[in-house]
Amino acid sequence: MKKIHEKLMQSMMERKKSLIDMESSRSLEKMTETELSRGDAMDVAGMNSEKEMNIAMRLRSSQEIKLIDKAVEKMRRGIYSICEKCEEPIEAKRLKAKPYVQYCLTCQEELEKSED
Ligand SMILES: [Zn+2]
Repeated sequence: MKKIHEKLMQSMMERKKSLIDMESSRSLEKMTETELSRGDAMDVAGMNSEKEMNIAMRLRSSQEIKLIDKAVEKMRRGIYSICEKCEEPIEAKRLKAKPYVQYCLTCQEELEKSED
Protein backbone atom coordinates (compact mmCIF):
# COMPACT_ATOMS: atom_id res chain seq x y z
CA MET A 1 0.00 0.00 0.00
CA LYS A 2 1.19 3.50 -0.83
CA LYS A 3 2.35 5.68 2.05
CA ILE A 4 -0.21 8.36 1.25
CA HIS A 5 -2.95 5.73 1.27
CA GLU A 6 -1.83 4.45 4.64
CA LYS A 7 -2.22 7.97 5.98
CA LEU A 8 -5.65 8.37 4.44
CA MET A 9 -6.70 4.96 5.72
CA GLN A 10 -5.67 5.99 9.21
CA SER A 11 -7.61 9.24 9.06
CA MET A 12 -10.68 7.38 7.76
CA MET A 13 -10.49 4.91 10.63
CA GLU A 14 -10.27 7.77 13.10
CA ARG A 15 -13.19 9.50 11.43
CA LYS A 16 -15.25 6.34 11.57
CA LYS A 17 -14.49 5.89 15.23
CA SER A 18 -15.52 9.45 16.05
CA LEU A 19 -18.73 9.01 14.04
CA ILE A 20 -19.59 5.91 16.03
CA ASP A 21 -18.73 7.66 19.30
CA MET A 22 -20.94 10.57 18.32
CA GLU A 23 -23.79 8.21 17.58
CA SER A 24 -23.69 6.59 20.99
CA SER A 25 -23.30 9.83 22.94
CA ARG A 26 -26.14 11.38 20.96
CA SER A 27 -28.60 8.64 21.74
CA LEU A 28 -27.77 8.96 25.43
CA GLU A 29 -28.30 12.73 25.38
CA LYS A 30 -31.55 12.27 23.54
CA MET A 31 -32.97 10.06 26.23
CA THR A 32 -32.37 12.58 29.00
CA GLU A 33 -33.76 15.45 26.92
CA THR A 34 -36.90 13.49 26.18
CA GLU A 35 -37.36 12.77 29.86
CA LEU A 36 -36.89 16.43 30.79
CA SER A 37 -39.17 18.04 28.21
CA ARG A 38 -42.08 15.65 28.42
CA GLY A 39 -45.50 17.29 28.84
CA ASP A 40 -44.77 20.80 27.59
CA ALA A 41 -46.40 21.52 24.23
CA MET A 42 -43.79 24.09 23.19
CA ASP A 43 -40.99 21.76 24.05
CA VAL A 44 -42.62 18.90 22.24
CA ALA A 45 -42.85 21.01 19.07
CA GLY A 46 -39.22 21.98 19.40
CA MET A 47 -38.31 18.42 20.13
CA ASN A 48 -39.91 17.17 16.95
CA SER A 49 -37.81 19.33 14.67
CA GLU A 50 -34.81 18.50 16.77
CA LYS A 51 -35.67 14.87 16.45
CA GLU A 52 -35.91 15.19 12.70
CA MET A 53 -32.54 16.91 12.62
CA ASN A 54 -31.16 14.19 14.78
CA ILE A 55 -32.43 11.55 12.38
CA ALA A 56 -30.99 13.44 9.40
CA MET A 57 -27.65 13.70 11.16
CA ARG A 58 -27.71 10.04 12.03
CA LEU A 59 -28.51 9.13 8.46
CA ARG A 60 -25.67 11.26 7.22
CA SER A 61 -23.17 9.77 9.61
CA SER A 62 -24.24 6.22 8.84
CA GLN A 63 -23.86 7.02 5.15
CA GLU A 64 -20.43 8.40 5.85
CA ILE A 65 -19.49 5.22 7.71
CA LYS A 66 -20.64 3.19 4.72
CA LEU A 67 -18.55 5.29 2.36
CA ILE A 68 -15.54 4.88 4.63
CA ASP A 69 -16.00 1.10 4.65
CA LYS A 70 -16.29 1.14 0.90
CA ALA A 71 -13.11 3.19 0.50
CA VAL A 72 -11.20 0.88 2.85
CA GLU A 73 -12.41 -2.11 0.83
CA LYS A 74 -11.24 -0.40 -2.36
CA MET A 75 -7.82 0.15 -0.81
CA ARG A 76 -7.59 -3.55 -0.07
CA ARG A 77 -8.46 -4.35 -3.66
CA GLY A 78 -6.01 -1.79 -4.98
CA ILE A 79 -8.60 0.29 -6.78
CA TYR A 80 -8.70 3.15 -4.31
CA SER A 81 -8.62 6.76 -5.59
CA ILE A 82 -10.09 5.76 -8.96
CA CYS A 83 -13.30 7.53 -9.95
CA GLU A 84 -16.23 5.09 -9.98
CA LYS A 85 -17.74 6.77 -12.99
CA CYS A 86 -15.01 7.62 -15.46
CA GLU A 87 -12.26 5.48 -13.89
CA GLU A 88 -9.81 8.35 -13.93
CA PRO A 89 -7.71 9.03 -10.84
CA ILE A 90 -9.42 11.28 -8.30
CA GLU A 91 -7.61 14.54 -7.51
CA ALA A 92 -5.26 14.19 -4.53
CA LYS A 93 -6.63 17.41 -3.06
CA ARG A 94 -10.12 15.92 -3.01
CA LEU A 95 -8.91 12.77 -1.32
CA LYS A 96 -7.14 14.76 1.32
CA ALA A 97 -10.28 16.70 2.17
CA LYS A 98 -12.56 13.65 2.00
CA PRO A 99 -10.66 10.39 1.72
CA TYR A 100 -13.81 8.44 0.90
CA VAL A 101 -15.03 10.41 -2.13
CA GLN A 102 -16.23 8.11 -4.90
CA TYR A 103 -15.97 10.39 -7.90
CA CYS A 104 -13.59 12.87 -9.44
CA LEU A 105 -14.55 16.53 -9.42
CA THR A 106 -15.92 16.46 -12.98
CA CYS A 107 -18.20 13.48 -12.34
CA GLN A 108 -19.28 14.84 -8.97
CA GLU A 109 -20.33 18.10 -10.57
CA GLU A 110 -22.21 16.26 -13.28
CA LEU A 111 -24.02 14.16 -10.69
CA GLU A 112 -24.99 17.20 -8.69
CA LYS A 113 -26.30 18.89 -11.81
CA SER A 114 -28.45 15.91 -12.73
CA GLU A 115 -29.85 15.80 -9.19
CA ASP A 116 -31.49 19.22 -9.57
ZN1 LIG B 1 -14.85 10.80 -12.91
